[in-house]
Amino acid sequence: MSKRILVTGGAGFLGSHLCERLLVDNDVICLDNFFTGRRENIEHLLDNHRFELVRHDICERVVLEVDEVFHLACPASPVHYQRNPVRTIRTCVQGTLNVLDLAREVHAKVLIASTSEVYGDPLIHPQVESYWGNVNPIGIRACYDEGKRCAEALAVSYARQYGVQVRIARIFNTYGPRMHENDGRVVSNFIVQCLRNEAITMFGDGKQTRSFCYVDDLIEGFRRLMASDEQEPVNLGNPGEFTMLELAEKVRTLTGSRSEIVHKPLPQDDPIRRRPDITRAIERLGWKPTVALEQGLVRTIDEFRTRIERQSASPRG
Ligand code: NAD
Ligand code: UDP
Repeated sequence: MSKRILVTGGAGFLGSHLCERLLVDNDVICLDNFFTGRRENIEHLLDNHRFELVRHDICERVVLEVDEVFHLACPASPVHYQRNPVRTIRTCVQGTLNVLDLAREVHAKVLIASTSEVYGDPLIHPQVESYWGNVNPIGIRACYDEGKRCAEALAVSYARQYGVQVRIARIFNTYGPRMHENDGRVVSNFIVQCLRNEAITMFGDGKQTRSFCYVDDLIEGFRRLMASDEQEPVNLGNPGEFTMLELAEKVRTLTGSRSEIVHKPLPQDDPIRRRPDITRAIERLGWKPTVALEQGLVRTIDEFRTRIERQSASPRG
């Protein structure tokens, strides 16, 4: 049945893909303050009569008659979330409170976009949902990872006390078309650097690992989690694990680039390794990723190449 669905952060990377997918059989309200989001991401949806764009900061209260809320509003790249840490933690805490108040008022179901960062620099590997994490509460990532931990705590408190229906997605590194060229996360950085034949910025020795999920897989995970009765947090990510050196090599090969690797200092509290245990998602949602890293990189590189060529051809470029 068709629903009215609110996507906060809908003009961002994940949000824009989610809006597009949900519009196939629903009415969608995209709410965004354009902190890291872009109008270009949703421009192709503006003519759809089932799509509505609301420019709003989620730190301010909002009431909209909706059936479901996907709460994604929050900068996700360390570069952006550390630029204004107070704003980041306020978005995580006040923004989530406002979303939960809205859900309580209109009896909407809420999916909170949490993160693998709640596990911090994990002492167990791979990470299962029952692990409570190893997080530095005063480090440079705290505005984000502690903010997201608080968002989870708020969500379960509203569920316990007010019976609000909440779903918690712990998202692991996700990449794909439409990431901002200046997003600052590793996949987009390496792709842009390779396409421009600029130095590949490798933080530390490059032996730290991450697990990269292609955006379409993640969006399907979101939809299944929202539709489920799952009360507990669920890891959504691709369990394939790669070092940053391996990632750089793949991107260099797939782009045919001449870029050299240049090492830069490893940022404080940068997790050494990360890989999701997705048993819960497989068993309870019947979900697992289907797009292998190279396959997803090819699609992402194609889109970045087109975008970068278009920009350099335009008079403003
Ligand atoms: P993004 O930066 O591309 O998108 C975030 C969107 O939220 C942007 O459009 C931004 O303008 C908007 N926003 C930020 N603060 C806001 C506010 N106060 N009010 C209204 N809108 C606001 O990032 P993304 O990768 O699309 O991430 C979306 C969500 O998923 C975030 O909550 C992030 O923490 C979570 N997440 C993403 C990943 C990933 O790998 N992409 C991993 C873990 C968690
Ligand atoms: N990284 C890197 N070069 C870059 C950007 C990131 O080597 O230009 C590293 C970063 O230090 C981290 C990994 O890549 O170890 C993933 O970084 P990202 O910012 O994408 O995500 P997160 O650290 O939040 O997982």
